[in-house]
Amino acid sequence: MSTTTPGKPLVHALNVTKSFHSTQVLKGIDIDVHSGEVVCLLGPSGSGKTTFLRCINQLETINGGRIWVDGELMGYDDRDGTLYRLSDKRIAQQRGEIGMVFQRFNLFPHKTALQNVAEGPIQVQKRSKAEALKEARELLDRVGLAERADHYPAQLSGGQQQRVAIARALAMKPKLMLFDEPTSALDPELVGEVLDVMRELAEAGMTMIVVTHEISFARDVADRVVFMDGGVVVEEGPSKEVIARPQHERTKTFLRRIL
Ligand code: ADP
Repeated sequence: MSTTTPGKPLVHALNVTKSFHSTQVLKGIDIDVHSGEVVCLLGPSGSGKTTFLRCINQLETINGGRIWVDGELMGYDDRDGTLYRLSDKRIAQQRGEIGMVFQRFNLFPHKTALQNVAEGPIQVQKRSKAEALKEARELLDRVGLAERADHYPAQLSGGQQQRVAIARALAMKPKLMLFDEPTSALDPELVGEVLDVMRELAEAGMTMIVVTHEISFARDVADRVVFMDGGVVVEEGPSKEVIARPQHERTKTFLRRIL
């Protein structure tokens, strides 16, 4: 559970900019996400959605602006308006409090599903092995894979691997979960099982930011959608409302193309 003060956003991104070489990919992003909220980032390919997600988790370093998660400034110490870069250790700690699920599942191929889920708690959090394995079994049960605990990734379908990846992220007890197109590498018949797990997670109150092209998931599960294009937020609002009645031409064009 988050310790955020009621009313204060769990994620507060302010005027975030990011460039790769001379190309500015994020041009001043302001996004707030409240505790327990599910927000889907929508928008055409190349609009900066993945980059923004990676900036929250400090897999990319921002060039300007600030991101707070649970009241903590990511990556920097702000002393009277001057920013000092945090130590690598502190940044790793901040990152450890945020779960991320990628398009590619990135499981350790030589470890079983159970070992993959227990790895972080044992190696990074230095928790007791017995306790970590017990919790890993519970998490695999939660994502419907109790029977597959001793299987290696190569023995699992893509959908099952992605569910293990979700369980692995949850094992670190994150205060926030980021999903970067978690179903786009899957065969169509395997998409539903992953979205079902995400839906259950949302219903259990997890704060989630999800980059996806699954519009029905965005409409039915997300509280809010944020539509990005060209490195800016073009439109945002309650998911059902924005998807049914987009106001901006760019949102309309995008939705027409994918609906
Ligand atoms: P989206 O998730 O909306 O498809 P991305 O955030 O993946 O958009 O990409 C936004 C832009 O940033 C694209 O033009 C992409 O080529 C560029 N980009 C992303 N990562 C890098 C990188 N590591 N180096 C250079 N350019 C990048």
